[in-house]
Amino acid sequence: MRIAVVGAGIGGSALALSLHAAGFDEVDVYEAAAEVRELGVGINVLPHAARELTELGLADELDAVAVRTAQLSYHNRFGQQLWIEPRGIEAGYRWPQWSIHRGHLLGVLFGAVRERLGDARIHLGRRLGPDDLDSIDADVVVGCDGVHSALRHLVVPGEGAPLWNGVTMWRGVTITEPFLDGRRMVMAGRLSRRVIVYPLRNLPDGRQLINWVVAVRTADGRPMPKQDWSAETDPREALAEADGIELDFLDLHRLIGECESVLKYPMADREPIPTWRAGRVTLLGDAAHPMQPNGSNGAAQAILDARVLARELVRHARTGASLDALDAYERERIPATTAVVLSNRKAGPERILDVVADRSAERFSRLEDVVSTDELTAIVDDYQRAAGFDPDVLNGRESLSAQLDV
Ligand SMILES: Cc1cc2nc3c(=O)[nH]c(=O)nc-3n(C[C@H](O)[C@H](O)[C@H](O)COP(=O)(O)OP(=O)(O)OC[C@H]3O[C@@H](n4cnc5c(N)ncnc54)[C@H](O)[C@@H]3O)c2cc1C
Repeated sequence: MRIAVVGAGIGGSALALSLHAAGFDEVDVYEAAAEVRELGVGINVLPHAARELTELGLADELDAVAVRTAQLSYHNRFGQQLWIEPRGIEAGYRWPQWSIHRGHLLGVLFGAVRERLGDARIHLGRRLGPDDLDSIDADVVVGCDGVHSALRHLVVPGEGAPLWNGVTMWRGVTITEPFLDGRRMVMAGRLSRRVIVYPLRNLPDGRQLINWVVAVRTADGRPMPKQDWSAETDPREALAEADGIELDFLDLHRLIGECESVLKYPMADREPIPTWRAGRVTLLGDAAHPMQPNGSNGAAQAILDARVLARELVRHARTGASLDALDAYERERIPATTAVVLSNRKAGPERILDVVADRSAERFSRLEDVVSTDELTAIVDDYQRAAGFDPDVLNGRESLSAQLDV
């Protein structure tokens, strides 16, 4: 079976590796960029995706360039702690939560694609649109071409720009000393003005790459300014937006002020759609289900798509029914990803911030006078169920790895 992977981002690279591991040897990767550069800022690989990358043999390489996040805590704007929970291995998963620079994750994935598939199968500088597909000799074409997907137009002709929820994000990575135990992800403020901070990489001199995000509701929403992953801005803008949020264990002013390159982009998604298929073309990752980054699930869901699609192509390879494989893939992945897209719109577990801020605008003396632990637990559990990352379910489920009969 000949398979064309369009887009060598996180999802496309994970797909190429999964297809290679399954034994497909006619896989071609088409990428618009002339060279795959390590762009972006922080991203999280949640345990369900860490399992998949581990099964693809990448765990050691990722461990070398990522931080195994151990805890997540929520705080009000005065830095008072509202909630803390273990993450990754500490939460009982057999796989870690890797917090990582998107560029370093892509570096590991795409490096493995190059090594395993060979350069002859990788076509850089090839931006494919619907009109180019006649020239692509493949039984199946997978659009892994990101939030501004060109191939999605085949599936949803006339769809407009992504939907913006009115939140603008300023994001950056600063090299500085670790805070707390060096493995903590922190969110502080309220949904309309919050700061998110987490370490991404341990450096040889004891310092860390620390990712920060200032997310502020700056408008009522749509239409969206074009989502440009490299729109740089002045750190002073981000500093002004973070004003009023304090943490006693971290100097936010210094963290943001010392950042050399600050990126700015809107928080956007798209309406879930009932099918991802148009003939031999299907979609994967952000092309299929762009989601707001609440819940840190975008990369993980793209990786899971890749693994399920490879497994379905294996299952249907014997009968040559490649299009049935695409249908089976979307029957499994559309409901799963739709639940995450919709849950992220409700801000996922980060809703905890508003539940407390709405009831207590000032410092509180006892959290239990403001909100019960049961109420907070219910919010977190709700999201975990929707996003499908219960530790027992993940630890107990069968592997998605599949192999063609030889
Ligand atoms: C440059 C960049 C920086 C990003 N930075 C961050 C970040 O800092 N934090 C974060 O949370 N998320 C970031 N993202 C998004 C994040 O990577 C995705 O949400 C997630 O990983 C899902 O991956 P994906 O493979 O579906 O999409 P992406 O990782 O966006 O990959 C899409 C790929 O398709 C290529 N492409 C686009 N159109 C075509 C075409 N017509 N033909 C061929 N190739 C095409 C792109 O060049 C890109 O390599 C970034 C994406 C990009 C492209």
